[in-house]
Amino acid sequence: MSLQLTTMSPVVRRFELALPDTLQACQQALADGPDIKLVAGGTDLLPQMKTGMLSVRKVVDLSALPELKVIEQQPDGRLRVGAAVAARTLEQTPLISKDFAALAEGASVVGSFQIRNLATLGGNMANAAPSADMAPPLLALDAELLIAGPRGQRRVPVTEFFLGVRRTQLAPDEVLAEIIIPAPAPGSGSTYVRHTPRRELDIAVVGVASYVKITDGTCTSARIALGAVAPVPLRATAAEARLEGQSLTPALIDEAADLAVSAASPISDQRGSAEFRRHLVRVLTRRTLTTAAERASGLSAARNGAI
Ligand SMILES: Cc1cc2nc3c(=O)[nH]c(=O)nc-3n(C[C@H](O)[C@H](O)[C@H](O)COP(=O)(O)OP(=O)(O)OC[C@H]3O[C@@H](n4cnc5c(N)ncnc54)[C@H](O)[C@@H]3O)c2cc1C
Repeated sequence: MSLQLTTMSPVVRRFELALPDTLQACQQALADGPDIKLVAGGTDLLPQMKTGMLSVRKVVDLSALPELKVIEQQPDGRLRVGAAVAARTLEQTPLISKDFAALAEGASVVGSFQIRNLATLGGNMANAAPSADMAPPLLALDAELLIAGPRGQRRVPVTEFFLGVRRTQLAPDEVLAEIIIPAPAPGSGSTYVRHTPRRELDIAVVGVASYVKITDGTCTSARIALGAVAPVPLRATAAEARLEGQSLTPALIDEAADLAVSAASPISDQRGSAEFRRHLVRVLTRRTLTTAAERASGLSAARNGAI
């Protein structure tokens, strides 16, 4: 099939469209030479094609691949999410908002309703913008990405997936098939918060996701993930280490928030200075750790039958 993309300028760009209905057919379509791109929701790809940032000869549409739309909790509690699941679906799935809250919250702030109906989790990861709202939640939830290609399948921890601004581990002939999130531990909680000047349709100036697990009043695991403060979304590991084995008092959370700032290497741009971004890292780390700890306590009590 041949289509054309019209722009505001008189330029008309033609491209071929493939609509495979199996992963194997998708890989065959990808093997058909250079300048081929996958499209899921198209909310990143189509603007890039329209503005001429990308020149694409063939577009391979993922929308007819049912295995990329799966949301399934395994018997051991792990969550499998297909790469082509839309943000709006993540936001509205009770299992995700209950047990993987950071992901539901990350999904819920992407663009507008219209954008979230199209924007997929896999597209958000593969596009690899430093400000991608669903990336810090996946880092905080310790997700793995299942990548399929002509050399077989491989699993990549999300901490190793991003290589730089718009650069990932994905080779041009590979498809991000699925995201796997470990089972929610009893006594754990997570959350994602971002700062934007406008309430909607804006990009994160800073986004922070936190996860904590609390056992008998002690923090036994903590993960803090920062977005939009470095070329790639990243974990604030020194801050995490400060929390582990301790009781999460407000003073300790303040200390961890200060340590999280040292993990950030933000730039100054039209949306905020580097100094303002560092300030936001401190504020949002404190806020997300507090919420995650509250949720962990609630979860713990609920699972123990106390409430
Ligand atoms: C108005 C507007 C507002 C936005 N607001 C936000 C926001 O608030 N927060 C935010 O994070 N993002 C935002 N975005 C960006 C975008 O919506 C998200 O990044 C979205 O999740 C991208 O998903 P998609 O399915 O549309 O990706 P696509 O545009 O289809 O693809 C994006 C890139 O990923 C590749 N790709 C897609 N799926 C796969 C796959 N399974 N395997 C390998 N490669 C793949 C494509 O080849 C392409 O390079 C906004 C975009 C617009 C237009």
